[in-house]
Amino acid sequence: MPSGAETAIGVDVGGTRIRVARISPAGKLLERVIEPVRQDREGFADQLLRLVDGLRTDSGTAVGIGIPGRVDGNSGEIRSAGYLDIAGMDIAGLIAHRTGLPSRIENDATMALIAEGWARPEGALGLIFMITVGTGIGGAALEDGAPWYGGGFSGQFGHVVVAKDGPVCNCGRTGCVETFSSGTALGRLIAETGLPVETRAEDLFLHAGSGDRSASTVLDRWAAPLQRAIESLVAVADPRLVIIGGGLGSEMTRALGRLPRRSKWFEMPVEAALLGDDAGVIGAGLCAFKAVRDAQPGPAA
Ligand SMILES: [Zn+2]
Repeated sequence: MPSGAETAIGVDVGGTRIRVARISPAGKLLERVIEPVRQDREGFADQLLRLVDGLRTDSGTAVGIGIPGRVDGNSGEIRSAGYLDIAGMDIAGLIAHRTGLPSRIENDATMALIAEGWARPEGALGLIFMITVGTGIGGAALEDGAPWYGGGFSGQFGHVVVAKDGPVCNCGRTGCVETFSSGTALGRLIAETGLPVETRAEDLFLHAGSGDRSASTVLDRWAAPLQRAIESLVAVADPRLVIIGGGLGSEMTRALGRLPRRSKWFEMPVEAALLGDDAGVIGAGLCAFKAVRDAQPGPAA
């Protein structure tokens, strides 16, 4: 029988930072450590085990780990992880060997969406999509509280094609929305417009509000491709809600809100993530608790 004293370890692995936290069954963040992430395989494994060991208590139940990149939702296999050289690593095996704890590995956007579904008053009923806007663009789908994987890799919304040409994407094609509406793309648009390289999205809103046409143009050129991608997602799957998260989630939601409506057919509630950058690590902890519950024999709660 689970007790209130039990905690889970949530891990959110990013392209530049790793967050590890102890999470209560109610999703409360009890303790957290953030470090620059080691990008080589051995360094990453050592860092992960050290951080999990450091936050682990006797009442720890399980570890949930969100990985940026392509993670097979059905098997937990890591096919690719962006800037990190950890594809194919048996992280669950490492955790089990070192700590004896079970673990669950998911795409980082899936973890963030699990936490967002939990945090919302209306819950996670129906079909909800998440789009994370950071260095790249990630995505995830949740149906009635459960991640929806398709064949294993669904939710790669950064690779919805919105143009015939454009910069070459990491996936090898051109025209992916990630190459137009990511944080990396925003930096490129700012440079192309001749604005100072240190210009941030907040500055653009400020200047656009004062009538600066170049700032308005950058914001619209950044958000319009993602608007097109969301319309295509709505045409295919008609989710109840699209949540925009990641490091630039609130800025992108605001930029999308500036754009004129293009078609009533594909209108959809679009909201910024409620939990900000903590969504991934909280979701990883909640996911770990669920993995333990699912593994327990007996009648469902
Ligand atoms: Zn792509």
